[in-house]
Amino acid sequence: MSDLDTNLAKLHRHLIRYADTGILNQIDGQPVPAQSGAWFDTHSPVDESHIARVARSGAADIDAAARAAADAFPAWRDMDGTARKKILHAIADGIVARAEEIALCECWDTGQALRFMSKAALRGAENFRFFADRAPGARDGQMLPSATLMNVTTRTPLGPVGIITPWNTPFMLSTWKIAPALAAGCTIVHKPAEFSPLTARILMEIAEEAGLPPGVWNLVNGLGEEAGKALTEHPAIKAIAFVGESKTGSMIMKQGADTLKRVHFELGGKNPVIVFDDADLDRALDAAIFMIYSLNGERCTSSSRLLVQDSIADQFEEKLAARVGNITVGHPLDPKTEVGPLIHKVHFDKVTSYFDIARQNGATIAAGGTVPEGAGHYVNPTLFTHATNDMTVAQEEIFGPVLTSIRFKGEAQAIALANDTQYGLTAYVWTNDITRAMRTTAAIEAGMIWVNSENVRHLPTPFGGVKASGIGRDGGDWSFDFYMETKHVGFATGHHAIPRLGA
Ligand code: NAD
Repeated sequence: MSDLDTNLAKLHRHLIRYADTGILNQIDGQPVPAQSGAWFDTHSPVDESHIARVARSGAADIDAAARAAADAFPAWRDMDGTARKKILHAIADGIVARAEEIALCECWDTGQALRFMSKAALRGAENFRFFADRAPGARDGQMLPSATLMNVTTRTPLGPVGIITPWNTPFMLSTWKIAPALAAGCTIVHKPAEFSPLTARILMEIAEEAGLPPGVWNLVNGLGEEAGKALTEHPAIKAIAFVGESKTGSMIMKQGADTLKRVHFELGGKNPVIVFDDADLDRALDAAIFMIYSLNGERCTSSSRLLVQDSIADQFEEKLAARVGNITVGHPLDPKTEVGPLIHKVHFDKVTSYFDIARQNGATIAAGGTVPEGAGHYVNPTLFTHATNDMTVAQEEIFGPVLTSIRFKGEAQAIALANDTQYGLTAYVWTNDITRAMRTTAAIEAGMIWVNSENVRHLPTPFGGVKASGIGRDGGDWSFDFYMETKHVGFATGHHAIPRLGA
């Protein structure tokens, strides 16, 4: 049996359990369908085959989940941080134990290649361990003595929070948002993306098997404009942590205005990778390719705009086109596959529409621009060259394995082009001139910049974007700043003079 056949056989053994039940919500520790009895279907991007029916929830389900989260909050908030730490580590253990199942299901549900998803499952476990270890210190504050007062700060968890996640690497992203919320002492209602509901259900089961009390983490499936909207409007929900498109973030801000929701947004990007002629060009090439063609290009931090110095552009683009044409497109469960099918027909249509747009824009299609024959939402890795930054293909987030290459003359132009976008999530700079690296990183408008490196996450560092790419930061203590309130208490240290009115 080939590796692919072995993986398919394993996958189908995992999927059988959803055949009768469908993918249910989990509210107050109970697996439940939508109160209305409505369902929607989820299909695999590999061949459009039916995976399962999924609870299509609405405002009543969100209300039940929010109430459960509110009821569970005081006990979870008051639980000793070391006890929360133990439960979060047990969740990480559960993820590791089911990592293969998670990876196989994630690939089938999203089209992501197994070579990346097996690592994504383990990274999800690491997210839980990282925040587990910080749970006991989450309330820690500062002592800020003045002449007359001992000023003390402490942090308290916000309350029940809503977490809304997208379909690209949904498992990893869910752990990234949920683990810090739980470590902080918040309770949760999670609404996963409708295109990829499978692994959110597995994660939820792992959490409750690990000893998480009922109601601390509630899962509600459904469509964005139904369940998602109701979650953002619910008065018991104190904050919304959202990962998704910039325009959805803007809708959520409006929807949450009446209940004064605190929001944390991780949104879209059109991230530049700037390659100067003094860089290590072989490493720059590897990194540029990895950052746009891994994860099917469905990656918020992808380097989707190549800004290449014109003195080296011909040679760099030639090597790039050859490598792009050589990327292995195939079944996501085949370990050899580098690029799998795109998540959904709707997204496939969006990504492939840019092939014609590139032609109309006047760019050259140097690789790809086509789709392989056969079923599934597959596209060939694509490279547009001779583009200019004002073209649609240089400005819009395509969110597929599609790279737009733009040439620049010198440093000032590279910086201007990098910043000439509505987005500001990440940037990548390749140069061996340290002073140039310092000048460019200071001038580029982005939340995260890597110099002579692809995106390598280090969990204590801040993650987030500027401009239309987001509001707020995750990672390290920044996550706790979002999920907690900082409280100040001043203790008088003596009998300081109090102004006496009417005395
Ligand atoms: P999306 O905005 O369409 O959907 C994300 C989630 O929001 C889904 O669960 C959806 O059901 C929900 N939603 C939709 N409308 C809603 C509404 N009116 N109210 C409440 N919830 C609603 O995004 P997507 O297409 O699933 O994901 C891709 C996008 O996510 C890309 O733009 C990508 O760049 C972005 N993303 C950003 C980061 C980051 O860290 N900055 C990470 C991953 C993905």
